[in-house]
Amino acid sequence: MTNSPLLDPAGGPLLVASHNGGKIAEFRELLAPLGFTVVSAADKALPEPEETGSTFEENAAIKALAAARATGLLALSDDSGLVVDALGGDPGIYSARWAGPEKDFALAMRNVEEKLQAAGATTPDKRTARFVAVLCLASPEGETRFYRGEVEGTIVWPPRGQLGFGYDPSFLPEGESRTFGEMPSHEKHGWVPGQAEALSHRARAFQLFAREALGIA
Ligand code: IMP
Repeated sequence: MTNSPLLDPAGGPLLVASHNGGKIAEFRELLAPLGFTVVSAADKALPEPEETGSTFEENAAIKALAAARATGLLALSDDSGLVVDALGGDPGIYSARWAGPEKDFALAMRNVEEKLQAAGATTPDKRTARFVAVLCLASPEGETRFYRGEVEGTIVWPPRGQLGFGYDPSFLPEGESRTFGEMPSHEKHGWVPGQAEALSHRARAFQLFAREALGIA
């Protein structure tokens, strides 16, 4: 990979190495104003690799490299999760797995809450958390670049809002009065090209990616 913009909308859709509908929708929204369309690993019926890494970076690389090697294209992946301080960083890289095979995030949020209650974390100061997203851009030749974004907040109970996906209704970003589940996605991203820092972990990581790989301020 070179240092000039790595990707150009004229080169065709950007391959997003994900099977998660919520993430793919967010990438489509983030990329659309930049002129890019998205094709996902799910669209291409690529197999979902097993996430055997022990960090967000390792799992992001596994997903991006698998998609890049399978297609011969540059691929962008996202490994992300909710890191809760009072739970020693759980569910962290296991955030998707806490929802079980049915992908039941009401269950996953209840599980977080039960563990917070068991730890005596009943006041906001003891319920601090952050969402983390690590994007990996990988080439079929095996090169990788990483972009990390984080957003601080607290876990609320009961969950609030029907918007977004995953743990969004339980996460109140610092300085905001609404959870991510109560924000339309453009407010969750909190970013338009050329403007100040984004809000969500994914949009913050994306901002770094857009600067370096797309040459966009
Ligand atoms: P993975 O990156 O495929 O391992 O899955 C990450 C999991 O973290 C998702 O399935 C969600 O449960 C959670 N997660 C990551 N980003 C977000 C977000 O923006 N909102 C809500 N949940 C998220």
